[in-house]
Amino acid sequence: MTKTDELLIRQHCDEVRRRIAQACARAGRAPEEVRLLPVTKTVAAERLRAAFVAGLTEFGENKIQEADAKAEHLADLPVTWSIIGHLQTNKAKQAVRFAREFQALDSLRLAEALERRLQGAGRGLDVLVQVNTSAEASKFGLAPEAVADFLRALPAFSALRVRGLMTLAVFDPDTVRVRACFRRLRVLRDRLRDAAPPAIALDELSMGMSGDFEAAVEEGATVVRVGQAIFGARPLPDSHYWPGEGSGVADQ
Ligand SMILES: *Cc1c(COP(=O)(O)O)cnc(C)c1O
Repeated sequence: MTKTDELLIRQHCDEVRRRIAQACARAGRAPEEVRLLPVTKTVAAERLRAAFVAGLTEFGENKIQEADAKAEHLADLPVTWSIIGHLQTNKAKQAVRFAREFQALDSLRLAEALERRLQGAGRGLDVLVQVNTSAEASKFGLAPEAVADFLRALPAFSALRVRGLMTLAVFDPDTVRVRACFRRLRVLRDRLRDAAPPAIALDELSMGMSGDFEAAVEEGATVVRVGQAIFGARPLPDSHYWPGEGSGVADQ
């Protein structure tokens, strides 16, 4: 870890926070309503130590293997981990070992697997339900029209603390289409919130990444997941991380 790296990370974070605050101002929102979740995929554990020194205490990762390895490396630091990508049912045990939050719940099978592991560990997990707002076959997440029934089934899993919804917008230079995804998630949340079972909170909307977080904040995001704007460009193209965006590489 170098001093320069720590300073750079701090500067980039300050800049992202400033842009969040400006987007909030445009939307008449308070900046405290928006949580910045730094996304650390491909960022080496040593750089995460610099990020910690720069003031970051929570990290988001989309691949369980990579997240687990880093969590182990940084076990001496008081940091928390969010899993923000698709999780295979057989990885539930691994996730429960170190994750504090899971943002990509999209099946009852996975809910069951997580519940069983959480009960065994005597702990709970904050979860967000992932919604496919772009209707792209390549994206994970529930179809918007399936979310109401899904939420009704979740109170059966008492270790899952449901906090809200998460989405990935369409990858498109057309900001109108990107914004439509964010708006779809907020409208869905607003529509479902009152009808949701009492144990299910739908306060959180996790949407927006480096390229589109300002639009997401203007559309109501309470969590933005930002990687490259903080840690710099990733060495591998996004097709490596998201299925269907070119290479066809699926999850772990
Ligand atoms: C990588 C990733 C992000 C962050 O993307 P950046 O372009 O680095 O900001 C956000 N959400 C998910 C699910 C991701 O996998």
